[in-house]
Amino acid sequence: MRLLPGAAAALLAVLVTGTLGAQPLPDPPAPSTGRHALRAARLIDGRADTVRRDGVVVVEGERIVAVGGPELLTPGLEVIDLGDATLLPGLVDVHSHPLIAGDDYQTDHLRDSSAFKALRGLKAVQDNLRAGWTTLRIAGDADVFYAHLDIRRAIDQGLFVGPRLTGAGHYLSITGGGGDINFLGPEHHVVADGKIADGPEEMRKAVREEIKYGSDWIKLLVTGAFMSAGDHPEDVHYSEDEVRMAVEEAARHGVPVMAHAHATAGIKLAIRAGVRSIEHGTFLDDEAIRLLVEHGTWLVPTLYIGDYYIEHGSPTGAQDKMIELSKKYKAQHYAWVGKAIQAGVKIAVGSDFGAYPAPVENAGEIEALHRAGMTPMQALQAATRAGAELLGWQDRIGTIEPGKLADLIAVPGDPLADLSALRRVSFVMLGGRVVRRDGAGR
Ligand SMILES: [Zn+2]
Repeated sequence: MRLLPGAAAALLAVLVTGTLGAQPLPDPPAPSTGRHALRAARLIDGRADTVRRDGVVVVEGERIVAVGGPELLTPGLEVIDLGDATLLPGLVDVHSHPLIAGDDYQTDHLRDSSAFKALRGLKAVQDNLRAGWTTLRIAGDADVFYAHLDIRRAIDQGLFVGPRLTGAGHYLSITGGGGDINFLGPEHHVVADGKIADGPEEMRKAVREEIKYGSDWIKLLVTGAFMSAGDHPEDVHYSEDEVRMAVEEAARHGVPVMAHAHATAGIKLAIRAGVRSIEHGTFLDDEAIRLLVEHGTWLVPTLYIGDYYIEHGSPTGAQDKMIELSKKYKAQHYAWVGKAIQAGVKIAVGSDFGAYPAPVENAGEIEALHRAGMTPMQALQAATRAGAELLGWQDRIGTIEPGKLADLIAVPGDPLADLSALRRVSFVMLGGRVVRRDGAGR
């Protein structure tokens, strides 16, 4: 879909913002085949540990062709001058649930149709894009009909503007686990928000179904969860046989596995079975950290979601369990993630978006990783280059380098001095196309 000035840009503004009159998008600086430059007071490329002053990025079509300073500004080259801002790679959220909206998500799942979830989810991913999150990995979502994979198809076909999407159709769960509905009497038969698979053979079939309908990740709830009703994160749910089956079956299709795992034994079981990432990892211990390093397994700590609920509360009370558990375990989770950082565990930013309503909050995870022990630069790299590496997309996104897709954002001022600047993204480019440009310097 080409961007056109005037009416088409206004229409696009509606599509992207989902709201008439809210921050209309400017006309694009050049057609998507053109060559233009971005200039900002600072440039953080996702790779170097230092900031480049007066940075310039030259973009041609959907790709970055040159990165440097003002010497790149040749006569006739159209320049978007972002002023006292910092250019960064587009942000990568490797743990997102765009079909979930708010705290009482399991009741919402029962109340809402797949079509409604798709419409709401489309707005959610577009809001994520405007907040600077140009790539999302969906960690399974609360819809039996794979609505988020249809959202991806609609974006890929050019029907809507949205971020790059990858991920799992469902979170696979045991009967009675975090993906089951555990608050109804036994005579009520409902379709759970997750996909239920018990035993290795059901697991094999569940993995095949997920891949059939477009999942490019498999998500397992290896242990109980914080947010779902009627289960406990310190219980290990899937057996070794079941996890190994999932990893083996997925691997035969070239699909990696992400494992939700809180309980220590569940974390270790999943690492040994060969999953690519551990989600949450609340109850790490020294051996689990050693295993993460040895196996090269990624850790996605999702530290901030618990902080968010402790601060904001649960409007419906559905997350009272989560708040109680978060208060109890938050300090030790931060401490273990700090040890994992020290040990050199590969860590990426995952927000658990969906459980809170506004994607601007995603940046809270970057701040949380800093509080856990990363330098501000490490935390920014966890939100960009590391996420791309976890996805296996490091040849396309995650850094500002020639040849990469031009997914770029800008924030006001210096984010290394104040990481909350990531909550105030003022410019977003996706594949060479400007999808947000606010304020001065236009
Ligand atoms: Zn999640």
